Formats: sequence, C-alpha cells, structure tokens
Amino acid sequence: MPRESKRARIQRMHEEYALLVEAFPHPKCALDFTSPLQLLIATVLSAQTTDKRVNTVTPELFSRFPDAASLAAANPQDVEDIIHPLGFYRSKTKHLLGLAAVLRDRFDGEVPDTMDSLVTLPGVGRKTANVVLGNAFGVPGFPVDTHVIRVTGRLRWRGDWNSSSPDPVHIEREICSYFEPSQWTDLSHRLILHGRATCHARKPDCEVCPLHDTCPSSLI
Ligand code: SF4
Repeated sequence: MPRESKRARIQRMHEEYALLVEAFPHPKCALDFTSPLQLLIATVLSAQTTDKRVNTVTPELFSRFPDAASLAAANPQDVEDIIHPLGFYRSKTKHLLGLAAVLRDRFDGEVPDTMDSLVTLPGVGRKTANVVLGNAFGVPGFPVDTHVIRVTGRLRWRGDWNSSSPDPVHIEREICSYFEPSQWTDLSHRLILHGRATCHARKPDCEVCPLHDTCPSSLI
C-alpha cells in the first residue's frame, strides 16, 4: 500500500466505520446486567472467558448476593461454587470479595461513575472502567480489548499499527481523537463484534468482510 497521509487515513477510517455501522446497526454489551454493580462484577468475571459463559453464572450470583455488602460478607466457598465454570474461580472470588468490600467501605456500596474513581478499585483498569462508564452510566467510554487492538491494527487506524506491543491507553487516546465522544462506546462494540465475527485472530475472513476493498491488511 502506498504511503497514506493522515488526512486520507482518517477519511478512510470514517468510511470503514460507516460500513461497520451498517453491519452492526444495534450493538450492545454482550454481558447481562441490570445495574452498574452487576455490570462491574460481570466484566471482572469475563477475564479469560467468554461473555456467554459469564451470563450462565451471573443470574445465581446476583440473586444470592444482590449488593456489595452481601457479596463482601459472602463465604468464599459459596462464590467459588457458583463461578466455578468460568475457570480461575479461586482468584476471581478473591478479587470479587475484595472489590465488594472496597465498594461497601469507601463508596457506600455504590459503583462510582467516574474514570478516576473506578480505576482506584482493586482489579479495575481502564478497560473495565470504560465498559461500566459507557454501558451502565451512559458516559462515553472506549474499552480497548484484544479485538479492538487487533482490528484497529489491521485496518491501520492508528499510527502504531505495526507495533508488537501496542499500548492500550495510547490506542484509546488516538482512536477517540478521531471520533465524537457520543460514538466511542458503540465504536468499541462494533470493533469487538467485527473481530469476533470476521476479523478473527488466526485467520481473518477477508472474503466476506465488508471492509476488504479498503483494508490495508486484506488477504484478497
Ligand atoms: S479485510 Fe480482513 S484483515 Fe481487513 S478488517 Fe476485514 S477481515 Fe480484517
């Protein structure tokens, strides 16, 4: 591909994003939740497993431990038994109980609605905080996960597309600078959906990809 100016790259990015909007008109968080606390817990549990699997254990977890205080006071064995199918159940239980205790003791049992406060919670980084902000509070957030890193790299939407160890915070800052805050949450959803459906890690399905005409990494 000939060298592309930044202006041309941004224009291509928006054209490609329009195609992703067509492909995924109504994106939404794949984790089931009805409150910020439930989404925070589900997001923490989703590490190293699928959202689908998390959704199979959270109904019982949320009904047995409906708030931060009850979860903080839970018998770890009871929580381990419920989340066992997710793997890493001992460390995840420890994290959840610690997180719930901090929410109970420092935040009156409520999940804070700012990035600065969320990232002070144990086990909560910017990715989890952005998921909660964007999906539970309606505050613009751009979670950068493995799919977002891979897809934005293949599409060369970011300057460091060929880095072998791209910095998620840098990716968040750069990609967000090209889009309106009101677009950030759905943009992340669509990149994740595209990564799961088509732009697979091992073998991207470029033949059926709606972006293959302009994607610099297209295999066709
Ligand atoms: S053309 Fe291929 S590499 Fe490019 S975004 Fe589509 S699936 Fe991914």
